[in-house]
Amino acid sequence: MTTAEILNSIMSTGPHLQPGHVWLAGAGPGDPRYLTLEVAAALGQADIIVRDALVSDMVLKLAPQAEIVFAGKRGGKPSAVQDDITASLIVFARQGKRVLRLKGGDPFVFGRGGEEAEALVDAGIPFRVLPGMTSSLTALASASIPVTMRGISRAITLATGHAAGTEDDVDWLALAKTNEPVVVYMGLKNIEKIVSMLMQGGRAPETPVAVIMSATTPQERIFTSRLETIAVDAEREQFEAPALIVIGDIVSMRSRLGVKE
Ligand code: SAH
Repeated sequence: MTTAEILNSIMSTGPHLQPGHVWLAGAGPGDPRYLTLEVAAALGQADIIVRDALVSDMVLKLAPQAEIVFAGKRGGKPSAVQDDITASLIVFARQGKRVLRLKGGDPFVFGRGGEEAEALVDAGIPFRVLPGMTSSLTALASASIPVTMRGISRAITLATGHAAGTEDDVDWLALAKTNEPVVVYMGLKNIEKIVSMLMQGGRAPETPVAVIMSATTPQERIFTSRLETIAVDAEREQFEAPALIVIGDIVSMRSRLGVKE
């Protein structure tokens, strides 16, 4: 058997998406090569795909038979939008459709997948969760930044920067004290607040920082800087969402591993 035949046989085993069921799946960071085989197979089985803004068109090309519904939220619109998305999943399932709810990265990492799964439980709709590669871990590896590294880091925090400065915020001062690396999702808009809280909490101003935009896509851009300068640099470089901010000494491994900026 060729590799392609073996992959095909793997993809055709396992559960099939049934009419009236919803699968909550992660599409990975963008490049279709980072799809799991399970999600690739699901793309070929769905009648309808409810996608979010981060799912790339290259991924959707794998589902030419499916109706595509856009349910994107960028930068956190009111939660009414989220309620509408959840309600539409339930309506499509009750119409007897095979529903694939497709999110960027992993559905359970800052993806509201947990809330959608809860609503499906409450509505009595059968569902499964299909993991995807979360953008941070993929982006770091492909940028030659080890997520953990003996002698440098013993833990990693994945944080959202979306609510920086609000009541619902992460305790940046406490995170600063761990001295372990932090990867911030949805943080670009609030980068200035975030870095200043980390420095206030004791992180050294010269801590290396990387910003990784549109990881694994043709628009990918990366630059590295220091905690004290990153906010100004990010603005000058005109980085846009989706982007990840990586803060910690692990970032310096990038040049150690031979990457030239
Ligand atoms: N469930 C997703 C995260 C959704 S929140 C996951 O597991 O990756 C949206 C945030 O994810 C973006 O604001 C950005 O911080 C990050 N993100 C998602 N895809 C990205 C990519 N290709 N490159 C850089 N950041 C990305």
